[in-house]
Amino acid sequence: MAKKNEFATDPAWRGRTALVHGGTERSQWMETGEAMFLTSGFTYGSASEAERAFATPIKPEDQRFVYSRFGNPTVAMFEARLAALEGAEACKGTTSGMSAVFAALASQLRVGSRIVSSRALFGSCHYIVTELLPRWGVESVLVDGADLAQWKKALSVKTDVVFLESPSNPMLDLVDIRAVAKLAKKAGAKVVVDNVFATPMLQSPLKLGADIVVYSATKHIDGQGRVLGGAVLGSRAWIDGTLVPFIRHTGPTLSAFNAWVLLKGLETLPLRVAAHSKNALAVAKFLEKAKPVARVLYPGLPSHPQYALARRQMKDGGPLVAFDLAGGKKAAFAFVDALKLIRISNNLGDAKSLICHPATTTHQRLPADEKTRLGISPGSLRLSVGIEDPADLFEDLARGLAAAAKARR
Ligand SMILES: *Cc1c(COP(=O)(O)O)cnc(C)c1O
Repeated sequence: MAKKNEFATDPAWRGRTALVHGGTERSQWMETGEAMFLTSGFTYGSASEAERAFATPIKPEDQRFVYSRFGNPTVAMFEARLAALEGAEACKGTTSGMSAVFAALASQLRVGSRIVSSRALFGSCHYIVTELLPRWGVESVLVDGADLAQWKKALSVKTDVVFLESPSNPMLDLVDIRAVAKLAKKAGAKVVVDNVFATPMLQSPLKLGADIVVYSATKHIDGQGRVLGGAVLGSRAWIDGTLVPFIRHTGPTLSAFNAWVLLKGLETLPLRVAAHSKNALAVAKFLEKAKPVARVLYPGLPSHPQYALARRQMKDGGPLVAFDLAGGKKAAFAFVDALKLIRISNNLGDAKSLICHPATTTHQRLPADEKTRLGISPGSLRLSVGIEDPADLFEDLARGLAAAAKARR
């Protein structure tokens, strides 16, 4: 077995090759499939070897696995492979997307710190930023992510962290990452981007000036609704110096089994995301022409209010579509209940198409005025488009539309 820090990806490999081979470290058995190291601990040949492994600073030649809360070979393969895709110096796997977000923020904030964040956030991210961090003495400021003037004003004073999601969950608002990163730099802030909706295939926040990228690997990286996982990516100095001590000592460590599932997920990520995106565009176009659809929000359609920005910073429209039905909650519930193929679920990023009514599920907790500000109306639906045959999706959506039309009458 190689030393811990040798999980390498040949820099000459192009993206899709790196996703199949990157980070692979074979055991003495030279297996083709990556080995799953289901072990909590590791053993030492001698007491002095153990002593050297715990030394700080540790000598490079003494680097090794000491305990799976700190690191594990299967997890290290996943981290190296995702880092190669993202073009990041380093990656750390976590138990879930939320532990990735929380560790990325909490590891660099303290009493008196200031965080500026876009308002359009995943429900639990919203909770961390607006409830948890202020409880610990962190000043938390929310801005409308699409409005650069608000970012400029909020970042006119010294700030520690900027946090944003683009496209956002559930209404697919975008943030101009390059412009916000420039403002953040002047304010002395590190920019953390939740890149779940774009996936690492369609948007590279680090290349746009962000410092840190976080993922819920539960979503498209797994892609088949099997396991929870997360990841944080950034510079080697920040990951090793700031994030790793936080994770080592608080324990939101990715399990070897989940890392193995996610590692295999990465191999087919480009194929799946392309299929999701192609289906999502077709579905968005279908819904745009349909009644009683009041509006469709899809970054790959010219009707999206930030289409020009989407073209600049995303390679494609992505796997999610949001739309509003005329007729409010009654129409939305009738639509969802009439579906036979598309399943009702607050999860997303599965091969199976999944639909959710954000106002009563993922974003139920938000006060009414905040929902309005985020564009989440009683008629809003979020559709995570799967990789089924689109003709079957259209048939199912037509069932929903007919039921919604009937419910309005
Ligand atoms: C799902 C999701 C998360 C949280 O991920 P978990 O793996 O469920 O903890 C964070 N951000 C966004 C945008 C998500 O969609």
